[in-house]
Amino acid sequence: MYGKGTMPKEGFKSITVSDTVYDRYYEIYQKNKQELAMKGVNSFAGYITYMLEQTMQKDKTFAKYAPKLEKVSIDDDRVIVKDNIKNRIAEVTIQRGELYCQLCEEKNCFHVGFVFSLPDVYEILNAKGIRHPK
Ligand SMILES: [Zn+2]
Repeated sequence: MYGKGTMPKEGFKSITVSDTVYDRYYEIYQKNKQELAMKGVNSFAGYITYMLEQTMQKDKTFAKYAPKLEKVSIDDDRVIVKDNIKNRIAEVTIQRGELYCQLCEEKNCFHVGFVFSLPDVYEILNAKGIRHPK
């Protein structure tokens, strides 16, 4: 990832990916360069690292909830979640650009956190510009 034929710097490792994979990500990087720079991502290698970290973070969040909560269904602005601890169904809806749990009547409960960790939901929310309240 440091250019073909270049030895990695001390403290770095290089990996080999196919031209197809490289080109695909490089193209995305080029397209989003300005936005990424605002997040402190200033190189292609930095972009790959940033993406891997994001994916790992999502996986970690997902693992935290996994056996306790289950996704039942997703439609455009509603996610149905089965709570295996309370043995209840939680309905998480998008209200005024925020996720809201109908079961807890809360915006930042366990179910909302879970919904944010679902990769397919995350994409929908991202497209709508909704971010997880921290
Ligand atoms: Zn809830």
